Amino acid sequence: MTKSCPCQSGLVYEACCQPLHLGAAAASPESLMRSRYSAFAMGLNDYLLKSWHASTRPASLPHDEITRWKRLEVCSSHEEGNAGAVHFRATCEEQGRWFLLEEHSLFCKESEHWFYLKADADKPHQNTELHPGRNDVCPCGSRSKFKKCCGR
Ligand SMILES: [Zn+2]
Ligand SMILES: [Zn+2]
Repeated sequence: MTKSCPCQSGLVYEACCQPLHLGAAAASPESLMRSRYSAFAMGLNDYLLKSWHASTRPASLPHDEITRWKRLEVCSSHEEGNAGAVHFRATCEEQGRWFLLEEHSLFCKESEHWFYLKADADKPHQNTELHPGRNDVCPCGSRSKFKKCCGR
């Protein structure tokens, strides 16, 4: 069975983030960012660490079974030489509470591989709690009402 990629590119996982998770080089900062979002959604901590630049990489990542990643929106992305940046919004749910994370991430390329560097401290970065009402559009991006989707 094929399933759509967690990064919501519209492609199936096998044609999108899986090759990167298996070691292929990302073609752009955006595809690396998408593969990292998918890795967060799937709990692939090894991949998250591997795609993190050695200069900023944490020693380990907590095993997170609470956060459920629901939506990714890439607002813009660009690359110039060995530097890249991606502005994105990600929506997650933690035990019934909803959060919208917005970040401008910085990336760099080394030996033909892109790595996540850090959040751009000069750009707005926020983690906002959402309070979806039962009749609001679901924050997962399905276009259904919250009460008929994730809020059921
Ligand atoms: Zn993907
Ligand atoms: Zn939903």
